[in-house]
Amino acid sequence: MTDPIYIDTGRSVSGWSFWGPLFACDQLWFIKNIAPPPPNPGMLEARTQGSMGHILLGHHYARLGAAQPGGFVFEGQTHTDPEDFLDPVEAVRRWAREADRRGEDASPFIANTIELYRQYRIREPYFPDRVVGVEQLARLTLGTNKDGEFGLWVDENLDEPTLLDCPALFEAHPAAPLLKHGEPIHVTKRLDLIAESGQNGKIYIDDHKVTGGSVSKSVVDKYAMDGQFSVNDWVGRQTWGEQYGGVRLNLVQRRDPWQVRKQVVPAAPRRNKLFPRHLYYKAHHLAEMLAGTVSGDLGQDDWQMTQTDLLCYHRFGRCDGFDICRFG
Ligand code: SF4
Repeated sequence: MTDPIYIDTGRSVSGWSFWGPLFACDQLWFIKNIAPPPPNPGMLEARTQGSMGHILLGHHYARLGAAQPGGFVFEGQTHTDPEDFLDPVEAVRRWAREADRRGEDASPFIANTIELYRQYRIREPYFPDRVVGVEQLARLTLGTNKDGEFGLWVDENLDEPTLLDCPALFEAHPAAPLLKHGEPIHVTKRLDLIAESGQNGKIYIDDHKVTGGSVSKSVVDKYAMDGQFSVNDWVGRQTWGEQYGGVRLNLVQRRDPWQVRKQVVPAAPRRNKLFPRHLYYKAHHLAEMLAGTVSGDLGQDDWQMTQTDLLCYHRFGRCDGFDICRFG
């Protein structure tokens, strides 16, 4: 018998954790990718419990998917036995052990995550939809499709990639190994849960948000303009066409009263349409900054600071760069 599958929900070198900070603040991108300080305690707790929640729910829904009639496909293989996947709590323990070895001190959060799982199953005893995919990695490339339309395309629809035009960056910087002159520009996105609705037959991409804050209805509005969901939109429309229903947030409170709320993220069609163009600009801007950094013409002080109160001091507390920006 083979070992049960442990699902990796980690970051990728061209995912939203790579591109997202660039849309917010150049200095933040530098700090996160080139010279990271220890994160603030509030951020560390939120990140650790968020990662543990993803591990937990990834394995939970994989086992549910395998238990449904016909099972589901994970990484090209159909699974019909829930035992093919590691028990969710065991998966959390394993993730915590690995995080501890990296010096992230995750073990103190195991007990709370186990309680979260108990509470989650009380509140979500039945999944009315069909699991289509779990922690599926999507990869898109900037370029044109067969109709000559510029956008972000999955491999089957891509006709001609738009290559990075920055001769000064002929060698990739270690912090951005895929960004290089003459190479395609990629975005990847891990899709937490893909589900076919039992109510309307639409396919939704569910995004787990394990939060210490509120899960009230107004929370979902904040995510309408979150660029990571533009990536979901480009993947979803190409993969499922008219059947694609959008993104749902699976908001899970990680403390009493342990509320769970699932809501559809409001559409942002203008932003989605413009996203590839803006990604193209951002990729070229980043390439120029990296080329200057490699050559020594630019230092950290040349990476611009957005310096606005809402970004510098957000809902998890201080931005990781707060003191560096303030004092150096
Ligand atoms: S503290 Fe503000 S200016 Fe500095 S990196 Fe963070 S968001 Fe940018």
